[in-house]
Amino acid sequence: MLWEHVTRVQITVPPIMRTQKPEWQKRIAEERIEILFHLAEKNFLKNPDRSRRYIELARKIGLRYNVRMSRERKKSFCKKCNMLLKKGKSAKLEVDKKYRTILLKCLNCNTVYRVYEK
Ligand SMILES: [Zn+2]
Repeated sequence: MLWEHVTRVQITVPPIMRTQKPEWQKRIAEERIEILFHLAEKNFLKNPDRSRRYIELARKIGLRYNVRMSRERKKSFCKKCNMLLKKGKSAKLEVDKKYRTILLKCLNCNTVYRVYEK
């Protein structure tokens, strides 16, 4: 990826302007989200708090510009504390014997997500 050399960038969330967002703004928003997720990924081990902050910003930008995240991306972080959910590191897989489903537990805030895996 292009962002390999990027260590830290200052990204600010722009203020709310009009309700109808032009296409180019949406594109920039998508690009910012991309960068933020990459940075979150990169800072995950060394600086978890910064990593969470990046996810938070990415989500804010997404909301503001109506940028939809892919299903995979949506599942990649905790909706409550914005922590990237990595199995064996920040998340744990548990089997729910009663309902016979797999649960993914965020080890940061203990939120449990139901994972449908086939
Ligand atoms: Zn969490």
